[in-house]
Amino acid sequence: MESEDEFDMQDANASAEEDDFYSGGDDDAAPAYAFDSDDADVADYEFIDNDSDDSDDLVSNRHQRQEEDITRISTVLSISKVAASILLRFYNWSVSKVHDEWFADEERVRKAVGLLEKPAVQFPDGEEMTCGICFENYPSDRLLAAACGHPFCSSCWTGYISTAINDGPGCLMLRCPDPSCGAAVGQDMIYLLSSDEDKVKYNRYFIRSYVEDNRKTKWCPAPGCDYAVDFVVGSGNYDVTCRCSYSFCWNCTEEAHRPVDCDTVAKWVLKNSAESENMNWYGSRS
Ligand SMILES: [Zn+2]
Ligand SMILES: [Zn+2]
Ligand SMILES: [Zn+2]
Ligand SMILES: [Zn+2]
Repeated sequence: MESEDEFDMQDANASAEEDDFYSGGDDDAAPAYAFDSDDADVADYEFIDNDSDDSDDLVSNRHQRQEEDITRISTVLSISKVAASILLRFYNWSVSKVHDEWFADEERVRKAVGLLEKPAVQFPDGEEMTCGICFENYPSDRLLAAACGHPFCSSCWTGYISTAINDGPGCLMLRCPDPSCGAAVGQDMIYLLSSDEDKVKYNRYFIRSYVEDNRKTKWCPAPGCDYAVDFVVGSGNYDVTCRCSYSFCWNCTEEAHRPVDCDTVAKWVLKNSAESENMNWYGSRS
């Protein structure tokens, strides 16, 4: 009886090993891009997991601050919110950078970002016009254009925008389909012409760009933690606590160390790692 059990177990182990061997072989044979796309899916999923939780204070604060930054730039520069968000995205969500660049040379900034002051061509009013993509003729009320005035039919726009959104975060800096034109395509137009599914994707890129670009938001340095942590400017100290309960210094990302300053901590860390190396060396000699 005992030997029979043993035999069964060995048999089970053997077949498990066999499975491992075969699946291992399959993995090796799989083309490299399969792994890449897997990784992308995982990253996407984790992102949704963290950021779709709108009830969370940190996340909603972050959305709110993104809105506040857009509103501030829109007010100070006297431009639309759509234009303000294009500018902020272009300058990595730095309000001060947008401000400085704009007032140093507005014309240059407008050109770089694709915010035209007046149309490049007169949008055809009340006439029949040819769509620049499919070359079909349409009455002007079935054609749409970005600020530049280059007319395309709505189904060509829809396809153009959908392709851009599904290509990745580059859709945040979408330009007019006319190859000679750099006019920015605003969020209003993208929302007007996107499917609900694409709108969700676009929004995700939009919010994510804020998290990744904005120095007021950092990824938690705790090993294995995927949360982004916000820093409230003017809170008086650099200690922040992640939702994973890890507390760290915003400035140097070492463990929270108030009231000791970051320089002193850096020296400690250096000294400690040097000492532990010495200890290991003595330890191995004794
Ligand atoms: Zn068309
Ligand atoms: Zn154009
Ligand atoms: Zn964390
Ligand atoms: Zn510090």
